[in-house]
Amino acid sequence: MTKPMGTIPAGFAADADGMLLIGGRRADALVAEAGDTPLFVYDLALVDRRIADFRTAFPGIHLHYAIKANSYAKLLSHVAKQVDGLDVASGGELRLALEAGADSRKVSFAGPGKRDAELDQAIAAGATLNCESEGEAERAFAIGARLGRTPRLAVRVNPDFEIKGSGMRMGGGAKPFGVDAARVPALVRRILASGADWRGFHIFAGSQALDAGALIEAQRATVALAAELSAEAGAAPPLVNLGGGFGIPYFHGERPLDVAAVGTALAEVLAGRPDILSDSQFAIELGRWLVGEAGVYLTRILDRKESHGRTFLVTDGGMHHQLAASGNFGQVVRRNYPVAIASRFGAEPEEEVGIVGCLCTPLDRLADDVMTPRAEVGDLAAVFLAGAYGLSASPQAFLAQFPAREMVVGG
Ligand SMILES: *Cc1c(COP(=O)(O)O)cnc(C)c1O
Repeated sequence: MTKPMGTIPAGFAADADGMLLIGGRRADALVAEAGDTPLFVYDLALVDRRIADFRTAFPGIHLHYAIKANSYAKLLSHVAKQVDGLDVASGGELRLALEAGADSRKVSFAGPGKRDAELDQAIAAGATLNCESEGEAERAFAIGARLGRTPRLAVRVNPDFEIKGSGMRMGGGAKPFGVDAARVPALVRRILASGADWRGFHIFAGSQALDAGALIEAQRATVALAAELSAEAGAAPPLVNLGGGFGIPYFHGERPLDVAAVGTALAEVLAGRPDILSDSQFAIELGRWLVGEAGVYLTRILDRKESHGRTFLVTDGGMHHQLAASGNFGQVVRRNYPVAIASRFGAEPEEEVGIVGCLCTPLDRLADDVMTPRAEVGDLAAVFLAGAYGLSASPQAFLAQFPAREMVVGG
């Protein structure tokens, strides 16, 4: 039975030959320029549109990019110029951020397990550490003293709530991330007493939310929590990072997030914020919402075969580059990302196919039972929504297949 797929995001069209255009350029020409498939193409003009949409909806709020969504150098350096901060989660990402030209004072480093060498690297660079525990803060003081540098420290708070797709869940509970809210004021006082540069709070309550109401509720609770913790600690936070969690629609029936509604509600919350936050700057950190829809993963069809009445298109790509599209990145039930035959984009669907990867495992499925135009060996198949958690979140070494290439267009 035919299964639905997600909606192809806006910004993609076909030329007169029916070839998919990405950033106005033919998919086959992009593959020729890159040298081979599989290929990730990121349209920087679509990223720029997202940044502009954010600026319109959230005037005065800082925009941070969480680089774990996509740290490809050409995309990262393009984004770094336009945002107010980069959020990294390892020493390796810190290095990528600095190589992309980011101002180290605008980089913040979260992550539950930081080595001493990584703390050293961040403190020496002047990046902000989002401390995930009291023990990590103590190590930062010692390393700062050894280096003769004042560490810039924020506290990552484990809030007592979390955002979920369908409403905010109270009672966040035990987590390896952040410091439980009840213990935060004491840690802030300890940081201030140490002479470190107190940077404020990082409060991240969830990811991939499409429900504006859930996000509005979470942001309201986050601002209230930041005010309470500040009052108890007796110190105002220079920055409150409100987290992010803006989702994008991947699957059939999902709708885009209403960011204008979130922006309007946040402006109201901030207009009425407690005095202790009156001089604080606020930031939102986003990964997938900024870059996810800008990416397309192009693969070539290597084989077309029939088995027990079903047709399979076997491609030269797969889950080793696009783990999430294969349904193996945290999904409970596998659903189809939007896909297309790039060389027949816009043609009418005429047959039901399964599109699979080249890995020798039944997990490697790019689309199950979808309707597509007739595709032949040599045609290009496209998987959309490949700009976030694609190559950066996939097991590329699995089965020692051919590596993916990456390129940017537009912008
Ligand atoms: C992963 C992560 C993000 C980015 O999440 P997206 O869903 O890509 O927007 C932001 N902040 C923190 C702390 C994260 O761990």
